[in-house]
Amino acid sequence: MQKEKITAIVLAGGSGKRMGASCKKQYMLLAERPLLYYSLYAFEKSPADEIVLVTNEADYCRQQIIQKYGFQKVTRIVPGGAERYHSVYAGLTAAADSRYVLIHDGARPFLTQDIINRSIEAVRLHGACIVGMPVKDTVKIADKENFAAKTLPRDNVWQIQTPQTFSYPLILDAYQSIINKIPEGVTITDDAMVLEYSGYTKIKLIFGSYQNIKITTSEDLLIAESFLKNREQGC
Ligand code: C5P
Repeated sequence: MQKEKITAIVLAGGSGKRMGASCKKQYMLLAERPLLYYSLYAFEKSPADEIVLVTNEADYCRQQIIQKYGFQKVTRIVPGGAERYHSVYAGLTAAADSRYVLIHDGARPFLTQDIINRSIEAVRLHGACIVGMPVKDTVKIADKENFAAKTLPRDNVWQIQTPQTFSYPLILDAYQSIINKIPEGVTITDDAMVLEYSGYTKIKLIFGSYQNIKITTSEDLLIAESFLKNREQGC
């Protein structure tokens, strides 16, 4: 029987505007290695068969990350688009003949083998699976003048992370059906949202980790440094 191909799509096509630094956040150094290194390393060691890297800095990534650290699984590098979902679509198009895809933000360096393995296990059962964690704080919806309009029940509110893992035909189909039809004012911020728009309701939530943070602003880098230090000390 032919092996079911598992592809990781690693996103590094963003501009990193919110970091406010001269260097894009996915290439900022964490313990002397570019942030993107850490997710590529995790997938390199995982059961994923191939990695599709989405970036607009292909030469830099090839020389300074892929060749430098000897990564073998990055088989394709494709340019990113204007929004995250354009970049994902570019990655999906390059992942033809996959059975499952794990879509991951390259700006989340603390991806573990445990998260990858549990995501693969869950996608085999459910067809669509996303990682996240229950929120710790109370979450409110604000009105246009920033008055509290509503409080969400904390018990079943999750903060969503990546990887988001899907049966390839399912997610490709969903993206193809909406890619040119996103209504004005709607921002697609994750891949599960694309499935939700297509009417799909069986997206399984599994635990990621409170350390699986996305590096977005400069405070996040400080937090990441302390996570890394703890790991090195075996905490
Ligand atoms: O912008 P955001 O923080 O949601 O980005 C999450 C991930 O998606 C980052 O790794 C970023 O590089 C990637 N991205 C992308 N193409 C874009 C925007 C974001 O690949 N146009």
